[in-house]
Amino acid sequence: MGLRIDEATFLERAISRFGTRYDYSQMTYKSYRTPIKIRCVEHPVREVVITPERHLQTTGGCKYCLRNYRNQTLERVLRMDCEPSVLPTPPLARAPQEPPAVGQKSKAV
Ligand SMILES: [Zn+2]
Repeated sequence: MGLRIDEATFLERAISRFGTRYDYSQMTYKSYRTPIKIRCVEHPVREVVITPERHLQTTGGCKYCLRNYRNQTLERVLRMDCEPSVLPTPPLARAPQEPPAVGQKSKAV
């Protein structure tokens, strides 16, 4: 893999994926595989240490956001129990413009 991602490219990707969800001002970018420290804007209590690679491949690394996301997924799975046991695709991987957590009300209930 000749994939090289520099800081500018990483930031560009991260922001197109997460928008302003994470704060990158404290990070020291060394390489795509070297962990960085970032902060989730919604949950700044704990800084997130994650490699840029994983940051772009996951929900970002904030465990609180991940928990929200898991709860949502669980609810969705419980609502349609005919769903085959397929691992859910993180919505961020598909629709960078639509963060999964915030204020999505389902029409049921
Ligand atoms: Zn968070």
